[in-house]
Amino acid sequence: MRVELITIGDELLLGFTIDTNSVFLGGELAALGVEVARRTTVGDDRDAIAAAVRDALARADGVITTGGLGPTSDDVTMDAVAAALGVELERNATVVARLEEIWRLRGRSEPLPPANLSQAMLPRGARVLPNNHGTAPGVYVERSDKHWVAVLPGVPREMREMFSGSVRDLVRAAAPGGVVRSLAVRTTGVAESRLPELLGDYAEGVDGLSLAYLPGVEGVDLRLTARGLPGADADEKLRVAARKLSARLAPYAYAEGTTDLAEVVLAHCRSAGRRLAVAESCTGGMLGQRLTAIAGSSDVFAGGVIAYDNEVKIELLGVEREAIERHGAVSEEIVTAMASAARRRFGVDLGVGITGVAGPRGGSVEKPVGTVWIALATPDEIVAKQLRLFGDRDEVRRRAAQAALDLVRRSFAG
Ligand code: AMP
Ligand code: MG
Repeated sequence: MRVELITIGDELLLGFTIDTNSVFLGGELAALGVEVARRTTVGDDRDAIAAAVRDALARADGVITTGGLGPTSDDVTMDAVAAALGVELERNATVVARLEEIWRLRGRSEPLPPANLSQAMLPRGARVLPNNHGTAPGVYVERSDKHWVAVLPGVPREMREMFSGSVRDLVRAAAPGGVVRSLAVRTTGVAESRLPELLGDYAEGVDGLSLAYLPGVEGVDLRLTARGLPGADADEKLRVAARKLSARLAPYAYAEGTTDLAEVVLAHCRSAGRRLAVAESCTGGMLGQRLTAIAGSSDVFAGGVIAYDNEVKIELLGVEREAIERHGAVSEEIVTAMASAARRRFGVDLGVGITGVAGPRGGSVEKPVGTVWIALATPDEIVAKQLRLFGDRDEVRRRAAQAALDLVRRSFAG
């Protein structure tokens, strides 16, 4: 079954309000195995709403709208939906009684204002969807050709309650079985454009599951999606396919689902019985932040130094002043000194160092903005790596932290 979403409100078009209703409904419908074929946003305009509903009904099996159900004159959704369906609005006596009751419960002695009575005008033949958190009821209307429209309020809490309380069951009853479920394989250190080549015959899908490429600052997630299968079958197929993808993308694939790279690094350290400390310059504590964001990290992560000023590198980490003067703070010599100092000073097995030019100033011809050195000191060796990262200051710092974590992860791979 294909469903379209229409969210209504000038505030959405003006960018004042983020359309979280579409996000919620997209997730809920996917869980029901319903394909959301399109999302449309229109302003508080009767003709625009009616046209959007009419067009959506011509393409899809069902349409869900949110917004425009308030008591004021800018709320015209019911009117527009009735026009799109070619039916009249009529006063619903049950809704009038309920509105009067709410009015009394709120301690008002004067009669219900006419503006509220407008909320009792519903398309003929509609099923009323009760609203337990507000005055505006929703409706569900099924046409003779079985195409349907569900009209929900805009207030996210009311919309969610109405979906869970009645719309979900109506959609489930109208939909054939199966779920839509996804699982991502997370990669880092590889360009999105390189992935199809590495994936070969998996580039467009694995075992009949579709594949989407989702690039982000920290790496590219490859999201597999199963549609129309029973839940348990979908999960099993996703698991098997994710394993195949991960194997093909070694050494870039580091996790499945939403697991952060820091969590993977901590798990590797834990099972190897190794502890970790960091010395960060340009990332200013991001590495420590990523590691300590994971609950239970204290058994592995000892701590770190934000050695931003060169004097801190010298005083707290024991980096030689002369070495900084000779090679510059962003250099292999300094990053290796930082990594081994972190290891020694914290008395741990692994020390990580980061130093770089995050920008926007401070770049030179030999060391342009985005030049970052990372290093890992282990009991056996010190490895250092120069990176040329792109993006603004925030992106360079995030990419640097991710690359440093990946350096640690990869040291366990062999
Ligand atoms: P309405 O039912 O159009 O009167 O909407 C009431 C309020 O709900 C608006 O002022 C918005 O703050 C909020 N709202 C409406 N539509 C959405 C949406 N699609 N996503 C999130 N919030 C919304
Ligand atoms: Mg509105």
